[in-house]
Amino acid sequence: MKKISIIIPAYNEEESLPMLYERLNKLMNEIKNYEFEVLFVNDGSKDNTIQIIKELRKKDERICYVDFSRNFGKEVAMIAGLDYTKGDCVIFMDADLQDPPELIPELVKYWEEGYDDVYARRSSRKGETWLKKFTSTMYYRVLQSLTRIPIQKDTGDFRLLDKRCVNALKKLRESQRCSKSMFSWIGYNKKEVLYDRDPRIAGSTKWNYRRLIDLAIDGITSFTTSPLRISTYLSIPTFLVLFVYFVYVVIKSFVVNMPIQAYQAIILLILFFSGIQILLFGIIGEYLGRIFNETKNRPLYFVNEYNGEKEMNE
Ligand code: UDP
Ligand code: MG
Repeated sequence: MKKISIIIPAYNEEESLPMLYERLNKLMNEIKNYEFEVLFVNDGSKDNTIQIIKELRKKDERICYVDFSRNFGKEVAMIAGLDYTKGDCVIFMDADLQDPPELIPELVKYWEEGYDDVYARRSSRKGETWLKKFTSTMYYRVLQSLTRIPIQKDTGDFRLLDKRCVNALKKLRESQRCSKSMFSWIGYNKKEVLYDRDPRIAGSTKWNYRRLIDLAIDGITSFTTSPLRISTYLSIPTFLVLFVYFVYVVIKSFVVNMPIQAYQAIILLILFFSGIQILLFGIIGEYLGRIFNETKNRPLYFVNEYNGEKEMNE
């Protein structure tokens, strides 16, 4: 029997866990033709989260857990989940029931049809402020404009991944992680499923704007080095202005037959040297970008099929 592994990062979620277990348990008992594993990653919770998980495990051996030594953040909790999973596929879910477990059968259905990455796209977001919705839309737009790899809009981490996506993700071991862009980067057959995102059932969101901004910057900088190119691009207009002004000054001095004025020379010098500086920054940025990409030590590609057989990328 195939095993489905549900990975749930949890940080101070004592209030949500009982209800979460109840809904998961009901669902797992309904789906008879699969084995299940619910893998909690306790991300250094300061409340009773781990005790509750341990109690759940006592009465239900499908519950597994990884307990972190401290709070490492959701991104790291997710990769730890991938490292410890025993499933043939994994499903990422939040502990606060914002991702309805009832969608799981549909995700599994598409997995059985041969899709490797079945991601749930929010058709609505209840209980979130317009500011959060607005900033997240803008963020996706910026991120997408910086890269050629297609990025899924309105998609969180709620998704089903086949074993080989898991193997692929396990090879991306960089420390500043942005799962969203990694899911896109590894590729494979993707399938979209729509759902309504519910408000959190209990407790409060662990995110604040500082964390979100950190995540956004990590997302952009871990994904693309194009911001480093800003400098290279800026030097071009600077040199253009320099050139135009130079021609203007020289022609004018001939026409009115007057030597070049001191202030004109100063403007020309400033333009010249700042242009050179910006250009040099750009060159350094280009090399820095290359070093950065190499130090990530990512594999260069993943193979989907070999001789008609799905590649597991062991
Ligand atoms: N989470 C985590 N570590 C953290 C912060 C959050 O494991 O440092 C977990 C949290 O327990 C929840 C999920 O990540 O299961 C999403 O967090 P939250 O609901 O607070 O984020 P939001 O849904 O508001 O984006
Ligand atoms: Mg939430």
